[in-house]
Amino acid sequence: MEYTFESKPGTTGFILCCQCGTQIEPNPSNMCVACLRTQVDITEGIPKQGVLYFCRNCERYLQPPNHWVAAQLESRELLSVCLKKLGGGLKTVRLIDAGFVWTEPHSQRIKTKLTVQKEVLNGAVLQQVFVVEFIVKNHMCDDCHRVEAKDFWRACVQIRQKTKHKKTFYYLEQIILKHKAHVNTVNIKPCHEGLDFFYIQQQDARKL
Ligand SMILES: [Zn+2]
Ligand SMILES: [Zn+2]
Repeated sequence: MEYTFESKPGTTGFILCCQCGTQIEPNPSNMCVACLRTQVDITEGIPKQGVLYFCRNCERYLQPPNHWVAAQLESRELLSVCLKKLGGGLKTVRLIDAGFVWTEPHSQRIKTKLTVQKEVLNGAVLQQVFVVEFIVKNHMCDDCHRVEAKDFWRACVQIRQKTKHKKTFYYLEQIILKHKAHVNTVNIKPCHEGLDFFYIQQQDARKL
């Protein structure tokens, strides 16, 4: 970590650090940088580690709660996903700069380097540079699941009728298409006297 003071124009002379007595240029905290460092960590509320979920199939990253973002390594889009993962802690400081620290592409690690500023102790502006490391975990997104695993389902809707003619089913098909009720169906199987509809999410099954 690195600390600097923003210089204020018009300050002259030196004072002694109130903690260790080192001669320093005056600043509102009356402490030298080394002592201030031991007193204040402006990145305190910001997580230094995180987890990113990556779908290898479609090369997208999960942006919680359930949005998947297409992003290349070291891209702006990925940086934005990373920053959002840091949550409210980042709002307590001023973000001056953000970028990536190179990591080996197969390391399943992404490192971001952030520069932040915050006013502390009677108006002294501290600046800190720190690294946040993200572990990339593979996680297939729902969209890919739907395509990949035709037989993977949690909910099933079974429709049966006891007559010989198929007119009712034709009518039902029109209604389903009209209301797009089939959109999240992973599989449809005809079976004796009817049809089975398969779903990953129970709520999608309910819609039907
Ligand atoms: Zn000191
Ligand atoms: Zn996917």
